[in-house]
Amino acid sequence: MNIASREIRLASRPTGTPTRENFELAEVKLSTLADGHIRVRNLWMSVDPYMRGRMRDYESYLPPFQIGQALEGAAVGEVLESNDPEFRVGDIVLSMLGWREVFDAAPLALRRPPAPVASPEMYLGVCGNTGHTAYIGLTDTIFLEKGDVIFISAAAGAVGSIACQIARVLGATVIGSAGGAEKIEYLHSIGVEHVIDYKSVGDMTQALRDVAPDGIDAYFDNVGGDHLDAALVCSRNFARFALCGMISGYNGESACPRNLLMAIEKRLLLQGFLVSDHLSDRAAFINQMNKWLKSGEITFRQTVELGIEQAPAAFLKLFSGENIGKMLVKF
Ligand code: NDP
Repeated sequence: MNIASREIRLASRPTGTPTRENFELAEVKLSTLADGHIRVRNLWMSVDPYMRGRMRDYESYLPPFQIGQALEGAAVGEVLESNDPEFRVGDIVLSMLGWREVFDAAPLALRRPPAPVASPEMYLGVCGNTGHTAYIGLTDTIFLEKGDVIFISAAAGAVGSIACQIARVLGATVIGSAGGAEKIEYLHSIGVEHVIDYKSVGDMTQALRDVAPDGIDAYFDNVGGDHLDAALVCSRNFARFALCGMISGYNGESACPRNLLMAIEKRLLLQGFLVSDHLSDRAAFINQMNKWLKSGEITFRQTVELGIEQAPAAFLKLFSGENIGKMLVKF
């Protein structure tokens, strides 16, 4: 069957902060489905800060997006048509073929949901890369312990809000930073003991010192820059840092700390990590998260934009901080 679809392509490589002009909405026609292929209609797609890195012409742990081609990213969809006996119409599938409404793929491009969740978009958020990143950063990277004092930046975002709650469940005292009154109120509502509105404090280091006069044992970095600097200054000897992301540097500004020497003086552990190294543990993680969600120990928020034409705007809002919890696009 022939079918029309739409996709978002990279129109040009951004310099500095991306704009709508860097994206292009294009119509595509899908003709008869090839043998052995599956046709999928996306239901939800994720926008993520790391996609900014793929807009550069630079080979990192993922290849760069190509100008004139559809972008890629995590998505959850349902099978519309199948020429593979392993997939049936209506099956829910995960892929990295977001940024398009309908697509044809070979079975290798699709993954089955690793474990059940209450609603399919949760595979992109609390039970997907987002929640798993928070979990891995705390439990497998800095081995957070009961009684630790941990600072978490971008705390009202997708990863940060789940990290705050897992840290609390693990018995840590949590300090979270975020920008703006609405986010600060949200952080209080999820049990973050100390909150810093970094947009209203003059000096991040002083603000962190004020809420942690005896220092921090751990830092979960989503921001880099002055947040990482503050954590270095306020850390105790032998503190552990999970280097998850440094969004303050993704559009070209430097996210490098000025106080790295303190890592030596204080014998700090600074450990970077990627959630993609832990995909084989995803089912076990989802089962654990489902228990926390059921007991109410962890809750989650989503910010939802509607329609593929809103996907670029959703992505841009990550950099202007217009999301609370996970930013998603619903088709
Ligand atoms: P978020 O939902 O946290 O969205 C990004 C948030 O970052 C914004 O809402 C904004 O919140 C904050 N922000 C944006 N620009 C700045 C800035 N210049 N200074 C301070 N804060 C800023 O995104 P994710 O949860 O998806 O990602 C969070 C971090 O985790 C990112 O750095 C990302 O790259 C990283 N990550 C790493 C993974 C890994 O495997 N290592 C996997 C997934 C994500 P505010 O309004 O508070 O400023």
